[in-house]
Amino acid sequence: MNTSSKKKWFNDNNCSFDIRNKKFLKFIIPIIFIGLLIYCSWAFIHKLCLSQIYDKSNKKATGIALIVTYGCLILLISVIWFQILIIGPGKQPQVPAFKIYQDSNDATDKTECINPPDIYQCNINGYPMWCPYCQSVKTFRSHHSRFTGYCIPKFDHYCSWLCTVIGQDNYKLFLNFLIYSTIAFGINWITTIICYLKYFKKRDHDGNLVAIVVIAGLGFFFTLGLLGSHIYYITLGNLRSIDVIGMKTKKMRDMIVFICIWDNELKRRFVLQITKEQYSQFWDRGSVIRNLKDVFEPYSLLWFIPINFHSSKGSKDEHTELGDRLGNYNVKINHKIKNIMKQKIRSGDYICTVDAAGDRYR
Ligand SMILES: [Zn+2]
Repeated sequence: MNTSSKKKWFNDNNCSFDIRNKKFLKFIIPIIFIGLLIYCSWAFIHKLCLSQIYDKSNKKATGIALIVTYGCLILLISVIWFQILIIGPGKQPQVPAFKIYQDSNDATDKTECINPPDIYQCNINGYPMWCPYCQSVKTFRSHHSRFTGYCIPKFDHYCSWLCTVIGQDNYKLFLNFLIYSTIAFGINWITTIICYLKYFKKRDHDGNLVAIVVIAGLGFFFTLGLLGSHIYYITLGNLRSIDVIGMKTKKMRDMIVFICIWDNELKRRFVLQITKEQYSQFWDRGSVIRNLKDVFEPYSLLWFIPINFHSSKGSKDEHTELGDRLGNYNVKINHKIKNIMKQKIRSGDYICTVDAAGDRYR
């Protein structure tokens, strides 16, 4: 085997191993998670509630109440997980190129274009961000996912535990999943510790109870930490995990983002440059409650009900306006930020102007 064929053999085998490994990992983590959940539930219900509390300690009402509460929580968690998978993260509707160039005189040129919106993320010349895989304009907060193969609106992260992508459509359910998992793990962990200390300190040393103290304890702090960080990101400015990860270091926060904005008074379109940190303030709804409402529901009682009440479906019609195309996937921008950007234009702090053909229909 010569050097080049050796290299090829190594690359091919290495590559195929990587792919197998990833596919294996994709399913192994949810399987481990389900296994731990089943084991914890069995140990809690059978070993703790029935054997120890109901039988040996003769606290029948407490044993039954704990079994019913825990059983309902596990059922609820399973239903939410199922919903997260079935509903999915959402899919950004295909958005054709914006009408930037003048109309072609060539009658055979049937390339579909839509009018450029008031504001969009662009490159230094004012052209919108483009997803080559979806053949679509990438709209605000949209990210292409390799797992789904299309762009996800309000992309949050790929969840290895649940084996799916979390985006606009299943984000509320994901938070509901964390809330009820934290409660279930918490009940499991705290009850086992209390009972263990109270009744079985010197009599029964069941290894299963020690195991669920460890597993449920880890599960409790993991889900609580995850829930706390997500709520913190929302209250911070309606942010998602990907926004926060993208601003970890000062270098990342200082990265440049270009924005193309239409000024209705000057009747012109401008390209501005801002930092990634300023860009992250675009999604802030102005208060903690408004940011939470943007994720959960407009009515506070529905926040804890694990059903997705919003039907986030983009329009299938051939609309010429971006907002109509995106439907509920259209992202709202902070008004204060829009005004700050207009002040930047007035002070001459912009890169260039753009004469977009679509703007003449305004
Ligand atoms: Zn895409």
